[in-house]
Amino acid sequence: MTSALYPTYARADIAFSRGDGAWLIAENGDRYLDFASGVAVLSLGHAHPHLVETLAEAAQKPWHVSNLYRIPQAERLAERLVAATFADVVFFTNSGAEAVEAAIKTARKYHAANGQPERFRLITFEGAFHGRTLATIAAGGNPKYIEGFGPPVEGFDQVPFADLAAVEAAVTDETAGVLLEPVQGEGGLRVFPPEFLRQLRRLCDERGLLLVLDEVQCGVGRTGRFLAIEHAGVAPDIVALAKGLGGGFPIGACLATQEAAKGMTLGTHGSTFGGNPLAASVGGAVLDVVLSEGFLPRVASLGGLLRQRLAELQDRHGAIIETVRGEGLMFGLKTRVPNGDFAAAARAEGLLTVLAGDNVVRLLPPLIIDETHIAEAVARLERACARLAAPAKQMGAA
Ligand code: PMP
Repeated sequence: MTSALYPTYARADIAFSRGDGAWLIAENGDRYLDFASGVAVLSLGHAHPHLVETLAEAAQKPWHVSNLYRIPQAERLAERLVAATFADVVFFTNSGAEAVEAAIKTARKYHAANGQPERFRLITFEGAFHGRTLATIAAGGNPKYIEGFGPPVEGFDQVPFADLAAVEAAVTDETAGVLLEPVQGEGGLRVFPPEFLRQLRRLCDERGLLLVLDEVQCGVGRTGRFLAIEHAGVAPDIVALAKGLGGGFPIGACLATQEAAKGMTLGTHGSTFGGNPLAASVGGAVLDVVLSEGFLPRVASLGGLLRQRLAELQDRHGAIIETVRGEGLMFGLKTRVPNGDFAAAARAEGLLTVLAGDNVVRLLPPLIIDETHIAEAVARLERACARLAAPAKQMGAA
């Protein structure tokens, strides 16, 4: 396959021409159950009527005016995010990495505004993923993403996953805060224990540190709560969102308390496209659905059902599936076979999944699925396991 695109992605040779709810239809007519959601982006699935209608309406109005003028759609979206969360103020971006960048800058600037500019370092955790910009690769700490790109951005100190003693030991006079994904996505679906998060909040309070969350993947309802941190009953200072917020339209957001955002004064940050009318309109339409009565409890209960079905699958196929972990509609299967082989077998059975670190296969269905999609996905996973158990006989039979 020749292409004028950078060869930075390992793409499957499939192009999709149609999407309908949790289903994707390839150009050749093959139907796939989409438990990848464009990597946790399609919170409402494909071609959701409310999103389609909202976008069509927004397209009749000015697409873009820039942040030199008021953008009522963005003002409204910010108000709704504030009403739904711990936050007082919002900065809009176009992607997850930019939302995390805004979160890092907000945390650093907070201490600068307090007369302590030397407090710029953030403590991060092994297995983290925060994006692919220069600061966010440094924050993530994965050498694979850092090497060859020049001196890494200074100021990130990584400690072992969910290790409070290690966090305490890493705090210095230069520490600005702690940055983490309440549920690590790319790192392999590792869930921070709620008790650890409560202890971490206490430590942050004692040491004057900001608790900064990257909920780019686990936020906006994916775990059955609007923010994943709500499971721990902990109030953060700054949270980065993206992915599910736009339901497929590129938008990210950095949410903060008034106090944490106090350094972000006139002229300190900006984005040409951030909070653009099209993106903000679609984001608002996503919230219409995700924040509607009963939606999130339904995600939580479907998540419970999926967890149970996956645990049963693991019981039947312990030689292939080692562990099942996750929360809400965000699960990882740590496999005993190479995760790429498992995902390929699932795809051959018409089920789309996403790989993650630690040899995990992620299941990230749209939040609008029902019990029938779960039954269908598990049946396909079952057949994928059968293929892997008898590779010589069955692989390539599709
Ligand atoms: N943070 C987390 C937790 C993510 O999962 C991702 C994307 N996988 C990002 C940041 C980066 O988002 P984007 O690719 O939109 O820049």
